[in-house]
Amino acid sequence: MSLDDLRLKSIASEVFGRRGFVVKEAVFTSFKEMNFRWTLRGNIVTLKVSDYLNDAPDEVLEEFLKGALTYIAGGRHVFGKRYMEYMTSDGFILRKRPVYYKRSRRLLRSDIGDHRNLFDAVQRLVERGLLNESDIQNTLFTWTSDPTFTRLGYCSQMFRIVVISRVFDSPSIPEELFDYVVYHECMHLRQGYRPFNHRPHDAEFRRNMALYPGGDELEERLRDIPKLYRK
Ligand SMILES: [Zn+2]
Repeated sequence: MSLDDLRLKSIASEVFGRRGFVVKEAVFTSFKEMNFRWTLRGNIVTLKVSDYLNDAPDEVLEEFLKGALTYIAGGRHVFGKRYMEYMTSDGFILRKRPVYYKRSRRLLRSDIGDHRNLFDAVQRLVERGLLNESDIQNTLFTWTSDPTFTRLGYCSQMFRIVVISRVFDSPSIPEELFDYVVYHECMHLRQGYRPFNHRPHDAEFRRNMALYPGGDELEERLRDIPKLYRK
């Protein structure tokens, strides 16, 4: 147990203690995603918290644990302002993103492909007025190391990383499909960090997607991409 673990245990004991729980153990764990796990025996709690928070200030840890409790309780989960500010600060992102990046597999770790650069697509979207500079600030773009056919793109809203399938790094895939996929992932950046949100394609997201000219048709054509895999 490190000093940080002891600090976590003492804060967790306070937060969980108010609800009648006893914290037997609380440790920071190197989960790839920002996560926490808990096991409960009677009123005895064992807690594992993502080590992305190991150097967070006490108040931030406290707000995280309170938020996690609301999540466990199953209602609307609410996370405090200090926690949200901390998690979305450039300082946190710059410090912890390299750790997340290292734990992520199958990335090219570059936005420069053999035929296309991700940043060119971003630039085109900015020039067309579809993206704002604020959407993409402090963001890392990378290709996957190999083409993936079912998951065409991915966005970590917490660490501001956009990953695009290398299937689009090919002259045989029309550029408009490539740009559209980049736009989709950048709309997740616009949503920002939402703790424990499992429904990223909400009404607001769909409204933003509807702003893309000819989006429905492009969406339709993207459905053919998984079929390329079988050829
Ligand atoms: Zn999406």
